[in-house]
Amino acid sequence: MAFGFIKTVFTAFPKGFYTTLKHLFKKPVTFQYPRVRIEMTPRYRGKHYLEVYDDGTERCVCCGLCAAACPADAIYMEPAETEKGERHAKIYEINLLRCIFCGFCEEACPEEAIFLGHEYEFSDDNRDSFIYTKEQMLANRPKEKPFKRIIRKVRRIF
Ligand code: SF4
Ligand code: SF4
Repeated sequence: MAFGFIKTVFTAFPKGFYTTLKHLFKKPVTFQYPRVRIEMTPRYRGKHYLEVYDDGTERCVCCGLCAAACPADAIYMEPAETEKGERHAKIYEINLLRCIFCGFCEEACPEEAIFLGHEYEFSDDNRDSFIYTKEQMLANRPKEKPFKRIIRKVRRIF
């Protein structure tokens, strides 16, 4: 009994203190969220957004390929035509409760219209607010630097 106690004092205690001291002056790996928000990695797939052309017209032509590629059946759309006969989505919705953020919609889109962004803060306590509309997706478009757009296009080729 006495021996066990002495052994603890001279071996286990110093070991424990050493471990504590070792980490005391290291940079913490945790972030003080929400005061500190981390930048997600480039390949992170978060909330979607819809792209437009430089003149502001929507890129999406409501072809349905993204919905066909979606394994979670999360995309719903209804087509319409403009006065000039150009096809676009009258309704384009993604059910974020179904979505598994696989990125297949982004891969399938021939118009480079839909992308998954880096936004990760969209929790809510109302199920209806997870039906993500076209207007919200257009508004969610990040301000992208031109060189990033080029890199993304090159990445899609390969
Ligand atoms: S990320 Fe995947 S699951 Fe979500 S809408 Fe796109 S294809 Fe469907
Ligand atoms: S987002 Fe792309 S794939 Fe989906 S309907 Fe629009 S154009 Fe087609």
